Amino acid sequence: MSQHERVALACDSCSPDEPTVHEVLSSGGGLLTLRCTACGHVHKEAPPEEPTVERKVVVSQGGESLTTTVEAPPDETVQVGEEFVVDTEEALMAVRITDLETAPEHRVDQATIADVTTFWTRAVDNVRVNVTLHPSDGGGDETRSLDLGVPGDHAFTVGETEEHGDERFTVTGLVIRDDAEGYPDRTLDRRRDSAVAKDVKRVYAVDQTTDAWSAW
Ligand SMILES: [Zn+2]
Repeated sequence: MSQHERVALACDSCSPDEPTVHEVLSSGGGLLTLRCTACGHVHKEAPPEEPTVERKVVVSQGGESLTTTVEAPPDETVQVGEEFVVDTEEALMAVRITDLETAPEHRVDQATIADVTTFWTRAVDNVRVNVTLHPSDGGGDETRSLDLGVPGDHAFTVGETEEHGDERFTVTGLVIRDDAEGYPDRTLDRRRDSAVAKDVKRVYAVDQTTDAWSAW
């Protein structure tokens, strides 16, 4: 004999205000057919809503940070690298988990939401990427740095030339962030190796900006 799933709901026959245990006889059309175990009354109801808990979320974006909250089911497991959408005063933002705080000064890579006190995250819709540019003539150690703002899904590929405003450079290497998954190494430097900007900590490139001018 199959064991019926049980849910706690009010029974309009014997207990309209306090939940009683009901057996789920069947489900269909978004409704459950239920039998009250207290009085035997059979009725159809919408399934009870999943309980949620509210948790603090700190979002860092380009050196600044803001705080918001998220509603989530307490039983769900989350881990560093996962992304979700939060509602902030300004906009909906896609964020990636960088740390899960479960107690003061205690951060873990994976936890049940019930145990999480604060989600530490960073915005991934638009990101800032550090670019280290080496001169194309290989001259000395005159590197310079760029702080580039790009969409999070912008792809950088080793061997390809990028143009951003007045800046022009050819990618020679990519350093991958610790919270990014699916890459064979943390440093990519083979031709056609590629990564999206939200996964990239630093781009190494050859500066083509001055070449464009000297060519004239
Ligand atoms: Zn009842």
